Amino acid sequence: MAKMTVRDLDLKGKTVLMRADFNVPLDANLAITDDTRIRETVPTIKFILEKGAKKLVLMSHLGRPDGKRVDKYSLKPVAQRLEELAGTKVAFLNDCIGEEVKKGVAAASEKIVLLENLRYYAQEEGNDPEFARQLAGLAEVFVNDAFGTAHRAHASTAGVNKYLKSAAGLLLEKEIKYLGDAVADPAKPFMVILGGSKVSDKIGVIDNLLPKCDAIIVGGGMAYTFLKAQGKSIGNSKLEKDKIDLAKSILDKAAAQKKEIVLPVDHVIVDTVDANARTEICGQDIPDGKIAVDIGPKTVELFNQKLSAARTIVWNGPVGIFEMDAFSKGTKALGEFIGSLKAVTIIGGGDTAAAVAKFKLQGKMTHISTGGGASLEFLEGKTLPGIAALSDK
Ligand code: ADP
Ligand code: MG
Repeated sequence: MAKMTVRDLDLKGKTVLMRADFNVPLDANLAITDDTRIRETVPTIKFILEKGAKKLVLMSHLGRPDGKRVDKYSLKPVAQRLEELAGTKVAFLNDCIGEEVKKGVAAASEKIVLLENLRYYAQEEGNDPEFARQLAGLAEVFVNDAFGTAHRAHASTAGVNKYLKSAAGLLLEKEIKYLGDAVADPAKPFMVILGGSKVSDKIGVIDNLLPKCDAIIVGGGMAYTFLKAQGKSIGNSKLEKDKIDLAKSILDKAAAQKKEIVLPVDHVIVDTVDANARTEICGQDIPDGKIAVDIGPKTVELFNQKLSAARTIVWNGPVGIFEMDAFSKGTKALGEFIGSLKAVTIIGGGDTAAAVAKFKLQGKMTHISTGGGASLEFLEGKTLPGIAALSDK
């Protein structure tokens, strides 16, 4: 059933509680080193205020304080940055529940109030009903915009919903639209690109998407277990020995469903995985002792040709060790190609999103998921507690 979004709410004169993902990286001086997550929340914040909300109470976690007050995990630096980005004063309260917080929210002259780190309380991750009730008691309606924690049933993601009408924020709405709806009912041809280091990380995604897609294109470290399963030589490339049978069964299943699994036909190989290693290109079989670190140029051509007619593409997993420039060409070329297509392009996975950012292709993709773990679970077809707990339309 369709879930309620912030667009469906009447917010006039209301106090709104919103779960955001302000889990930003900080340096030793507690300066924010990457404020992307704060920036991404600003449209929802502005939307709520423009709809006439009386007050917006923001809550988040930061780091892993494990249920204790740990100063270095304070959200205070976020309040300052948010003020700059939202262009509105932000009141910061140094706790997230209790009488003082209730009073602080009521007394604040600022429209935006940011609460202190939820994970200073173990009850947050424990999804404690009383803790959730106290958070809910701060407002009249709840908006969840924290996709990165939507796969966790915590008090602030799946507990407060028992007490308040709950709607998705604009960020979460977009994640549901693309990772949920677009994948459930994709415009065809629907092509899935999988890469990354391990087959074992992606089995759930393969099981869920194989029946829905037209083909799966496999690159990256996980390709070598598949190639081994086909009897190819893979040298010293990444291999999960205990997953060879599984790879065989996936290949058989795909053949039975008449779904193509496209594997690399050439490789960039090295003697040792080192940023300065001398690279060579080899054909399908990899010589003894060599390690494949990227797909080769023929494979890029093959993948592009398979993808050219696609109307929906899901990409999860870099096709080479893209962190090292010498081994990043395949991932870059693939990203550039799919970015040039008219297809709906959906990027899932933390490292894939990092690769897309590294090659400055963000503006070329339809949707880049903001949640690493959450996006994988979504692509695996799992029900995410933070989404399930939203009110139905
Ligand atoms: P995501 O976070 O997008 O889901 P993964 O975590 O599954 O992606 O995989 C990312 C990692 O896979 C990267 O660190 C990359 O270096 C690694 N990888 C890609 N190709 C290879 C390869 N040929 N051999 C070893 N590791 C690889
Ligand atoms: Mg990863």
